[in-house]
Amino acid sequence: RHFSSVPSPQSNSTDENGFKGHGMLAPFTAGWQSTDVHPLVIERSEGSYVYDIDGKKYLDSLAGLWCTALGGNEPRLVKAATDQLNKLPFYHSFWNRTTKPSLDLAKEMLSMFTAREMGKVFFTNSGSEANDSQVKLVWYYNNALGRPEKKKFIARSKSYHGSTLISASLSGLPALHQKFDLPAPLFCTQTALTTGASIFLTGETEEEFATRLANNLENLILKEGPETIAAFIAEPVMGAGGVIPPPKTYFEKIQAIVKKYDILFIADEVITAFGRLGTMFGCDMYNIKPDLVSVAKALSSAYVPIGATLVSPEISDVIHSQSNKLGSFSHGFTYSGHPVACAVAIESLKIYREKNIPDHVKRISPRFQEGIRAFAGSPIVGEIRGLGFILGTEFSDNKSPNDPFPAEWGVGAIFGAECQKRGMLVRVAGDNIMMSPPLIMTSDEADELVSIYGEALRATEERTAELKSK
Ligand code: PMP
Repeated sequence: RHFSSVPSPQSNSTDENGFKGHGMLAPFTAGWQSTDVHPLVIERSEGSYVYDIDGKKYLDSLAGLWCTALGGNEPRLVKAATDQLNKLPFYHSFWNRTTKPSLDLAKEMLSMFTAREMGKVFFTNSGSEANDSQVKLVWYYNNALGRPEKKKFIARSKSYHGSTLISASLSGLPALHQKFDLPAPLFCTQTALTTGASIFLTGETEEEFATRLANNLENLILKEGPETIAAFIAEPVMGAGGVIPPPKTYFEKIQAIVKKYDILFIADEVITAFGRLGTMFGCDMYNIKPDLVSVAKALSSAYVPIGATLVSPEISDVIHSQSNKLGSFSHGFTYSGHPVACAVAIESLKIYREKNIPDHVKRISPRFQEGIRAFAGSPIVGEIRGLGFILGTEFSDNKSPNDPFPAEWGVGAIFGAECQKRGMLVRVAGDNIMMSPPLIMTSDEADELVSIYGEALRATEERTAELKSK
C-alpha cells in the first residue's frame, strides 16, 4: 500500500463496518483511500473554514477545489439562488429562447473582461466542459474559414484542463491519461506537451528560461506544420500541476510566436479568474490578449456549478455567419446558462466588484506569500512558488530538484496529515503541496495559515529525518 507511513485521518467515520468503504466511486481517490481510510466528511462551512461531521474546524486553504472564492456562507449568494429558484428554477437557452439571468451574466462578464474586447460568452456547467467547448469552437471556426487541416492543439506538460475525454487529452498530467486510453486518438499528435516546468528545474535566469520555452514552442510548431496547428492553451499560472507561475517574459514571447503562425491563444482561467492573482483575470496580470478564455469555479464562488468560454468578436462573427448557413450552431448543454447558476454568478461578480476583491488579494497576499516563504530554508523544502492567493510548495531532499524523496515515504502526505491534525486542509499531490485560500481570507486567517504550515513543516522535517536515518 502507498504511504503506509502516513497516519490515516481518524477524524470521523461514515462506515460502521470498518473497511467496506462507502458507496461512492470517489473522484481522484485511490482505492486504498476509499476502502481503508474513513473519508473526511465535511458538513458545513463558514467564511474561510469548513467543519466535519464531528464538528472539527479546518481552515480551508484550498477553498474547496480552488473555487469557493467568497467562502462558506455568503448570504447574498444564498438569496440570489433562492430568489431565482422561487421565480424560475429552470429554462434553457436553445433555439433563441433564454432567460434574463443568462443574458445579464453574459453582458456583465463581457464588461468585466478588459484585457481585450471579447464578443460573446458560451455557458457550460464546468471548467472541463468549457475547455471541451473551446476545442469544438476552434474546429468549427477553422472549418468555417475553409482550413479543415488546421486542427491540432498545443498544450503544456503539467497543465490541467479537466477530466472529460477532450479536456483530459489536453491536460499534461500522465495520471489523467494512464489506463484511460488517452490522449484521445484525435489528440495524440496534437497535444504536444512541451512547455510547463518550474525554474527550479533549470538553473537559468527567468528570461533565458522563457526564451528557451518559446524556442521549443516554435520548433514544435515548425515540426508539426503551422498550417496544422489551430490553438495553444495555457493556464496563466499552472494550478493542479503544482502551482507554477510563468517565468518573466514568458507570455510575451509565447504570444508573439502563436501570432506569427496564426494560432489561436486560449487562456484557461478556471483557477485564475476573478481575483486570485491580485488582478481580476490572469490575462491582466500577464498582459495576455487571448482569443478564447475559459472560466468556472469562482464564477459562482462554487455555490452552484457553472463555467463559460469567452469568445473573441472575430471568432463569434464567423460562428454566427456559419451557423446561419447551417441552420444552427449545434453545440450546447441542457444547463447552458442555467438561470439559478447565472443568478448566483451575477451576484458573485457584483461582490467581487463592490469589495474590490483583486485589491483585497493584493493587500493580504504579502502576509500569505512572505509568511510561507520564511520557511524556504527548511531542509525538506525544494521550492516555494506562487503569487496573490495561490501557492505551491515542492518538497525535495538536499534542496535539490534532482533529489526527490522516495515516493513511498509520502513526505507530502505526511505534511498534509500534519496540517489536517492541526485544523487546516491543503492539497497534496505527491510531494507538491498546493494552497489557494478563499479570496476573502483576512490577514488574521493568513497568519493562522502560516502558523499551521510552520508547525506541520517542523513535524514533517522530524519524520523525514527519522525515515532518512533508517
Ligand atoms: N481548468 C483548470 C485550470 C482547472 O484547474 C480545472 C479544475 N481544477 C479545470 C479546468 C476543470 O474544471 P472542472 O473540474 O470544473 O471541470
